[in-house]
Amino acid sequence: MIEPRLCEISVPGRVGFRFPEPDVPTEELPKSLVRKSFPMPELSESDVTRRYTHLSQLNHGIDIGFYPLGSCTMKYNPKVNEETARYAGFTAVHPLQPIETVQGNLALMFELQEWLKEIGGFAGVSLQPAAGAHGELTGVLIIRAYHKDRGDVQRTKILIPDSAHGTNPASTAMSGLNVVEIKSDERGNVDLEALKTECDNTLAGLMLTNPNTLGLFDEHLEEVVNIVHQAGGLVYGDGANMNALLGVVKPGQVGIDVLHYNLHKTFSTPHGGGGPGSGPVAVRSHLLDFLPAPIVAIVEKGDEDTPPLYGFVTPAKTIGRMKAFHGHFGILVRSFTYMLMQGSDGLREVAEHAVLNANYLLAKLHHVYHVPYDRICMHEFVAEGCWDDAPDIHATDVAKRLMDFHIHPPTNYFPLIVHEALMIEPTETESKQTLDAFIEAMLNIADEAHQNPEILKSAPHITPVGRVDEVKAAKDLILTCSVSSS
Ligand SMILES: *Cc1c(COP(=O)(O)O)cnc(C)c1O
Repeated sequence: MIEPRLCEISVPGRVGFRFPEPDVPTEELPKSLVRKSFPMPELSESDVTRRYTHLSQLNHGIDIGFYPLGSCTMKYNPKVNEETARYAGFTAVHPLQPIETVQGNLALMFELQEWLKEIGGFAGVSLQPAAGAHGELTGVLIIRAYHKDRGDVQRTKILIPDSAHGTNPASTAMSGLNVVEIKSDERGNVDLEALKTECDNTLAGLMLTNPNTLGLFDEHLEEVVNIVHQAGGLVYGDGANMNALLGVVKPGQVGIDVLHYNLHKTFSTPHGGGGPGSGPVAVRSHLLDFLPAPIVAIVEKGDEDTPPLYGFVTPAKTIGRMKAFHGHFGILVRSFTYMLMQGSDGLREVAEHAVLNANYLLAKLHHVYHVPYDRICMHEFVAEGCWDDAPDIHATDVAKRLMDFHIHPPTNYFPLIVHEALMIEPTETESKQTLDAFIEAMLNIADEAHQNPEILKSAPHITPVGRVDEVKAAKDLILTCSVSSS
């Protein structure tokens, strides 16, 4: 059922508000300022409440159900994060206030920088970038500045495996460097021979997502890093998949030179729908000087009687500012709350359970859904949503049918190296019961694909809007809802 629009349930003369008695003298508005007719729907308070409550229930969200959207780490967002983010000390401040008056906020940023250094094995962190892709751009600009500083201006080539997230080549292109694609081998690792061929004195670096978008840990990680370093390049780590590694692997210790975190994925802040994210960038010591400024630091050491004074510092060869003020502070508060709640042992358990949950699904589904790179996965895996003996069925049909089971579809048609890809990331916050319900739905759908394909082709059936014509929806956007005065 499509909800009626407000203008359709409008009844002339119906009102849903009452203004308080004025406590100042009233005046007639000058005639020229009075709007003659402004067609607004006329509704009671309950009309409006029901309308918006209904609308809010039409959307799927992590608070409504399972959301195995691969690569996006749609874990449950603990409500305690929202509570701390609303503290007046965090919300009722201005970024231009004197630092003496915002010491608590600076302490939080400083501590968060320290946690992110520790988690990844890095020497320094900037909290500025607004999201993952923005962190990538920051990191690639740092790599560029590093080579330029050494007079290595011919190093303009960034290697990107074909299993990379689409933002990697986009960020590289924005930085002015050139993208060269490297293919994967048959086990889903970076192809070492292809890598060696590209390693010459024009190499600026390699952008590596590990675990990669197939959900696989590169089996030659150290060798890959060494090959790039020996050729004079740097290694960029796309840390969006850190949920698989927390407390287990420190990318900085494996030789990754610069990495971005996706706080909104790994550290549980609400995302999707284009909401604010946060993509801090961490570097090893040889890149500290290039970090975006300002960075939070202890500018005056404390002693027994006085706490330390936090303030801002500017690294010597900084690439400059990447964002107004200090990044998305509200997201920093939420993520830091999450880290404190988990503690270091808890963060390791997050990774262990994320990997366990994904492997449980893989083990239960790979007999029915072909998994082209079928080995122990990390936090996600990629299956094919198609069968030779069900020729009309595509990944999109499986995805749409899942909605009838109140499950958000997995990421589909990505990564590009898997035909009819369904990229499944359960996260650690789901119970065995939820995972079992998902398995049952997937097995059911595979059955239907063979016995009753039409039910997949016409899915979803329970959503207010059924199968949309995706081409038309993209090319023929209707952005306004016209309000008629009838
Ligand atoms: C999500 C993601 C990104 C981009 O992060 P945004 O915050 O969406 O900009 C980059 N790489 C990988 C592997 C990701 O999953």
